[in-house]
Amino acid sequence: MCGAKSTDIFQMLLESARRRRELRSELLKSLGIKEYFTDGSISINSVTCRGLECKLCIKACPTNALYWGGGRVNVVEDLCIYCAACVLSCIVDDCIRVSRRRLDGKVETFSRPGEAAKLLQTISSRRRINLVDRVFRH
Ligand code: SF4
Ligand code: SF4
Repeated sequence: MCGAKSTDIFQMLLESARRRRELRSELLKSLGIKEYFTDGSISINSVTCRGLECKLCIKACPTNALYWGGGRVNVVEDLCIYCAACVLSCIVDDCIRVSRRRLDGKVETFSRPGEAAKLLQTISSRRRINLVDRVFRH
């Protein structure tokens, strides 16, 4: 009996997580925001954050997922697409932590501007290599 009940609760939790993902996708789609990662998470350390004199992450966020309220930086998780632009702009190491899962299942985590910058550099180098490859192959 207890087993059946816990299965029901588990099913309800799964269903609610699925519904939440659907609503998030609908919201992002309605705002014209494209998703690049299957899932992710973001956290901001309000103890180390220099918010009052900084707020650079809020300015850098392309989806307006970050806002100032209650004396701290807050995040609307449903608007966050885990792009890591906030990590790149943050003046405090390990203050913002973004984790995300790529379509191929690879998980990436950033909490320092250097890590996010390194990734951007790798991507643009890869694009340059692909471009040169295309030009010389035709
Ligand atoms: S990861 Fe990107 S979308 Fe999410 S809060 Fe940071 S800047 Fe905004
Ligand atoms: S950029 Fe970093 S230090 Fe500045 S407000 Fe955002 S989280 Fe705080």
